[in-house]
Amino acid sequence: MKKVLSGLRQEDFEVIAQELNASKFRARQIHNWIYLKSVSSIEEMTDLSKDFRERLAQHYTVSKVKIKRKQVSKDGTIKYLIEYPDGNCVETVLMRFDNRANLTACVSSQIGCPVNCQFCATGAGGFIRNLTPSEIVEQVLTIQRDTKLKVTNVVFMGQGEPLLNLNNVLEALDIFNTDFQIGARRITISTSGIIPQINKLADIELQSTLALSLHAPLSEIRKQIMPIENKYPLDKLKSALLDYVEKTGRRITIEYLLIKDLTDTIEMAKHTANYLKDLKCNINLIPYNSVEHAKYQKPLKTSVMKFKYILEQSGKKVTVRLERGSDIDAACGQLSGKIKNQVN
Ligand code: SAH
Ligand code: SF4
Repeated sequence: MKKVLSGLRQEDFEVIAQELNASKFRARQIHNWIYLKSVSSIEEMTDLSKDFRERLAQHYTVSKVKIKRKQVSKDGTIKYLIEYPDGNCVETVLMRFDNRANLTACVSSQIGCPVNCQFCATGAGGFIRNLTPSEIVEQVLTIQRDTKLKVTNVVFMGQGEPLLNLNNVLEALDIFNTDFQIGARRITISTSGIIPQINKLADIELQSTLALSLHAPLSEIRKQIMPIENKYPLDKLKSALLDYVEKTGRRITIEYLLIKDLTDTIEMAKHTANYLKDLKCNINLIPYNSVEHAKYQKPLKTSVMKFKYILEQSGKKVTVRLERGSDIDAACGQLSGKIKNQVN
């Protein structure tokens, strides 16, 4: 059984180089071929001697993940269905924004998700297992190998609740930071609001962006769409967020899902402004994207504008999230990782 090079750290490459009687410099070369040049095979590591490559290839391979399916949206968004050696699959999305040089990878942290938000396709499929740090970084490597481009930003907004797999997510974050050379500020972790883990991120003074899926400012409404509200309610969440801002000095991103006639009303906008009034945050409004089986509807454009206006009046910076890749079910909440939807 060959071992996989993707996901290893510099110190691991040094051990491998030593095993093969080569210098530390070879370790750095392998490292760069994996993370910066993203080759698909050892053969392509052309600044290593042929003999060394052959010896390396006897025991190692670049990766064992497969692209099961690749879909390209009209807007340029690419969705990959990636299969791990155990047969489990996740979806990973690459987004490009026309006016920027950024290439943003939306990565998954779990196979399925146990949080079961009522509006989300991932939650509907239940929870299977956590992803390891190397399985998380393999998603970005897969994109880089396939596109021959370098990912510049990472958002943990794919399948799964990153804070319920926090140790592995933090290790992956460290690899993105150190090995891919993606700055901490270009990485965002989005959570449904797991309070003990938010406290942990405050204690380690996370320098990446924390995004909170608020979605409703009143407990009764939030409970209807996010069962996690029963365990980690809004009032306690607020204290955790204030503490997080104080300890890290970082502004939080608040994600707010606009569902027609439920969370998109003027009354909800006012309650949201009130809930957030003393919190250092930016707000990102996400118009609901339709998913199979969910009973909700998209908000009207006018409601989105009114909602935005009310929050802006309260002094916050508010953006509306662009819908990306909805024609290939790659938009927020549409990732299910199911193979049954495949047509080929
Ligand atoms: N589990 C994490 C991150 C993944 S989801 C979290 O929940 O925060 C990324 C964002 O997409 C979250 O804010 C999530 O609530 C939102 N989302 C889920 N389903 C959606 C849908 N159908 N339409 C729009 N956004 C959705
Ligand atoms: Fe899980 Fe996030 Fe989907 Fe909720 S929205 S079910 S936390 S992936």
